[in-house]
Amino acid sequence: MTAVADVQSTLARLRQEVCSLHEQLTRYQLVVWTAGNVSARVPGHDLMVIKPSGVSYDDLTPENMVVCDLHGKVVDGEHAPSSDTEAQAYVYRHLPDVGGVVHTHSTYATAWAARAEPIPCVLTMVADEFGGDIPVGPFAVIGDDSIGRGIVDTLRESRSPAVLMQNHGVFAIGPTARAAVKAAVMCEDVARTVHVARQLGAPVPIEQARIDALFDRYQNAYGQR
Ligand SMILES: [Zn+2]
Repeated sequence: MTAVADVQSTLARLRQEVCSLHEQLTRYQLVVWTAGNVSARVPGHDLMVIKPSGVSYDDLTPENMVVCDLHGKVVDGEHAPSSDTEAQAYVYRHLPDVGGVVHTHSTYATAWAARAEPIPCVLTMVADEFGGDIPVGPFAVIGDDSIGRGIVDTLRESRSPAVLMQNHGVFAIGPTARAAVKAAVMCEDVARTVHVARQLGAPVPIEQARIDALFDRYQNAYGQR
């Protein structure tokens, strides 16, 4: 295949993948209206594929996904890209191992963000998936690099693939877009469970050595080999 044909086939695959991953956001009730989005890095190219802005989840197609460069400029697409494109582009520029980014305002996780309170590591699932507390990032608004910088600065200090941006919502990352969606789904699930646990008392912390062992086992040995 020529280099051009090669990138075209990769883009076709990623348009399909990013489009269909949005079905998981609605399936797990992480989003309402048009808020929330998934993007994927185009491996080997300074490009990303992201949801179009303001298009209903029911109307998403592989064709209306938008291809942008890693500064958020549209390279291919008829729609404007998601308003979170600049933040996600910043993440791809600064975290080279990240292949996918997801953003939601999922209810329970965002309630923790509203209090600027990290989700404590009080479940084995939090240790497995997040390696410790799910951290809070700074208050930041759309318009400059501050959301992207807040995500990157917070996640660099943590093993967690998700950050609760203060007063805003969840940004999740992963080696693939699918992994980032999984982190967003798990983040909401543990946010809800720990919220419920709090209603009848103080959840019991897990000691650090056990968190480390759980995280190591889940990241390196769990699942199908
Ligand atoms: Zn948002």
